[in-house]
Amino acid sequence: MTKYEAIPGSEVYSALKDQSSIILACNPRINIGILDGLFEAAKKMNSVIILELAKSECNLSGGYTGLTPEMFAKNVKEAAERADWPWFIIHGDHLTMKKVPEDANEVKELILSQIKNGYSSFAIDASFLFNHEGKNAREELEKNIEFTTEIAHFIKSNMKGKEFGLEVEVGEIGKKDEHGLVLTTVDEAVTFINALKENDVHPNLLAIANGSSHGQIFDDAGNPIEQISINIPRTIEIAKAIDKFGVRIAQHGITGTPISLIATEFPKGNVLLKGNVGTYWMLIAWDVLKVFQPDLYKKIWDWVINFKQSKEKLIQVFGKNSKYAIKQYFDNINAVDEDTQEALKAIAYSEGLKFLKAFNSKDTVKHLKR
Ligand SMILES: [Zn+2]
Repeated sequence: MTKYEAIPGSEVYSALKDQSSIILACNPRINIGILDGLFEAAKKMNSVIILELAKSECNLSGGYTGLTPEMFAKNVKEAAERADWPWFIIHGDHLTMKKVPEDANEVKELILSQIKNGYSSFAIDASFLFNHEGKNAREELEKNIEFTTEIAHFIKSNMKGKEFGLEVEVGEIGKKDEHGLVLTTVDEAVTFINALKENDVHPNLLAIANGSSHGQIFDDAGNPIEQISINIPRTIEIAKAIDKFGVRIAQHGITGTPISLIATEFPKGNVLLKGNVGTYWMLIAWDVLKVFQPDLYKKIWDWVINFKQSKEKLIQVFGKNSKYAIKQYFDNINAVDEDTQEALKAIAYSEGLKFLKAFNSKDTVKHLKR
């Protein structure tokens, strides 16, 4: 056991659920330098921070980052120790089930490893299990309710009395139909949480489809554009409806959202409690490598473009697919020299400070000290 272990998510979520702060949750697909910068930023702001990776990013075979839960947890705890900052959660993001029961079994295997390595919070994502033939929300969500319940009970029994945080999901994030992005309804959110409660599952956080998308978004010419599509009124409406269950909203897909909009427009206090920033940390790492490791950056660029066999909209192709190069160039990325590491740390530190400020997350640790 290292000196620093993750704090149970439930402890943090309960302590902050009535405060006007959003907890910053980072998916650092590239750990080197970035984790150190994030921990330094959290320490400077006296803020609790969540480090998380989704099942697709980090699993028993490494996911597309090449990191297993064991490697990721070790990197996080070592960064915590270097920064001397014990206020963090390790969260299993998007434990996604699309095909059941196959995916449920795979998720269970992954969770056992996450628990063994000290994860303290989990996000069950069965939002894809949507029955389009259902006559009402309860019928539409039946499979989501069933498998979320099964996995939640599995986590609880394997945590053996240890507290943990729980996030669940209703509404597929980023899903589009002919009218545009499909949003979670109030009825769906309430039906879902209510059904889970009947099954003795009591989540802290609910992820909803509220107009955001994962990763960057692009215009027709393939250039990245800002994301301003998050539907704030709907988000507030859902938050009010599930307030009686003590559940708050986890905002996914923040990359690309103007930071000033987060600071001024994101509802804080009884609405959003956790904000996931994922792709962003990879994009700033690429920017550093471009300058400090131009040869490696060119290799990565060429690999992505070749792998997609693209001739046009190259920025978009790279933006959407460069995540797959992280595993491919894992050893090279993790062997960068000290100057590069320092630059990665510095950019993660300054961007981390900005997000923590915009999330009003300064001094959240004050509410946690026991
Ligand atoms: Zn997400």
